[in-house]
Amino acid sequence: MSASKVLGYVARSLGQPLEAIVYEPPKLGEHDVRVSVTHCGVCHTDIQAIDDYYGITTFPFVPGHEIVGSVMEAGPAVTGLKEGDRVGIGWQGRSCGKCEWCLKGETQLCMEIENTTVMVPYGGFSSSVVADHRFVYPLPPTLPSQAAAVLMCAGVSVYVPLRTYATSPAMKVAIAGVGGLGHLAIQFAHAFGCEVTAISSSPWKKEQSLGFGADHFIDSNDMDSMRKFDYGHDLLICTANAGIDWEALLMTLKKRGRLVLVGFPDINLNSTDLVAHELLLTGSMIGNPTMMRAMLSFTQEHGIAPVIELMSMSQVNEALQRVKENKAHYRIVLVNDKN
Ligand SMILES: [Zn+2]
Ligand SMILES: [Zn+2]
Repeated sequence: MSASKVLGYVARSLGQPLEAIVYEPPKLGEHDVRVSVTHCGVCHTDIQAIDDYYGITTFPFVPGHEIVGSVMEAGPAVTGLKEGDRVGIGWQGRSCGKCEWCLKGETQLCMEIENTTVMVPYGGFSSSVVADHRFVYPLPPTLPSQAAAVLMCAGVSVYVPLRTYATSPAMKVAIAGVGGLGHLAIQFAHAFGCEVTAISSSPWKKEQSLGFGADHFIDSNDMDSMRKFDYGHDLLICTANAGIDWEALLMTLKKRGRLVLVGFPDINLNSTDLVAHELLLTGSMIGNPTMMRAMLSFTQEHGIAPVIELMSMSQVNEALQRVKENKAHYRIVLVNDKN
């Protein structure tokens, strides 16, 4: 298949709806593959990128970084992938390859991280993307494409901190926020053998949380139920983006417990408990290629399954609005019609 023109949904300026445009396919570097996109998940950070929450957005760009598709074309230095292979691509589509972090294999910490995203300039809300083959992952044949898409960002973002910090099944783990990331975090934490508490401001998510493998559920609006878990957890993974009562949340951690942020919420922490309880506060950013591959096989071994709402790629603005309004049924995946 030759690289014909690309149909993509472009963000032209701050906070504006995406516009369908047709553009020339980006050039294929020697280490790159061109992937025909069949599926792309919608992540809350797509919205933050469109809103330039991080202060690094360069317009125009095409968002979308939970990509599944098939290899259309491979550069001359590509190994291990060939035309027709079904693959996944996450937020990171390349790295500088030279900085101290890239040399250590911790590419998610690349010193040029803002230039490594697959969305610079044209990401997965499109008919095709280009990425360095070292960040393009062959998918297990039994893994459905829509599920694989969600694992590429939401999956790896919660798998890595759990694998890194939930070091013993005896640990008690809390997951704050039961949405796209949270519902996967519950499943992973349960699969690691930990006792899991789901914390959500949506009490109707209790039954589903228990279904995902949570042992307990806290309605974060109900302070009495929250206080029963004071000093209750070794590890707290915060996947929520808004409406967080940090003081109450930190109280659910044991002394020397660890709070891991995997989204990008506004934080407003009182230092008293942080210091007096000797708490650890950690950020966790996606995962390197080794973690991506480990996560994919772990999900297969343990039957981790994202809950997905499918929409057509052309409904991208509607999908972004649903995510913004917190209405997505866990994760929305956009499907390209022609595929
Ligand atoms: Zn994401
Ligand atoms: Zn680097």
